[in-house]
Amino acid sequence: MAALRDTFNSFFLVELFKGLALTGKYAFKSKITVQYPEEKTPLSPRFRGLHALRRYPNGEERCIACKLCEAVCPAVAITIESEQREDGTRRTSRYDIDLTKCIFCGLCEESCPVDSIVETPIFEYHGEKRGDLYFTKEMLLAVGDRYEKDIAATKEADAPYR
Ligand code: SF4
Ligand code: SF4
Repeated sequence: MAALRDTFNSFFLVELFKGLALTGKYAFKSKITVQYPEEKTPLSPRFRGLHALRRYPNGEERCIACKLCEAVCPAVAITIESEQREDGTRRTSRYDIDLTKCIFCGLCEESCPVDSIVETPIFEYHGEKRGDLYFTKEMLLAVGDRYEKDIAATKEADAPYR
């Protein structure tokens, strides 16, 4: 019976007409091609793009050098060194992320108790040589300073689902 059906389908080009019907179904529908970069699709608040280190509104670094992000990173992409300040608080003296190792899993952000290290919605960045994607503390803080409004907005949008 199956052989008879296959012969019938082959002889009358059933698969071909099925394909043409599908093509015809979409031929006159509105097109969904996005003209990137002029047009962009919406991003989830949980999108995991370029990393940033955040500050509190008074300018103080959020990071307390607990090293949880360094410990949890499966790609061993984060390197932290810390020191004690004169006021007794602990802060990082070095905080580097090697983005050529990073797999953008988001575990560093999830582990951070003070919302310091975050992944921003920024995905349009590049490096022309390997060293360009080695982000130091100063570079990460600069990203945080520049995009704090966007970061705070995505955190707020995601908050009801956590
Ligand atoms: S996103 Fe994942 S791989 Fe990248 S630095 Fe954070 S923990 Fe490591
Ligand atoms: S970024 Fe967060 S998790 Fe990482 S060392 Fe600083 S406070 Fe700890």
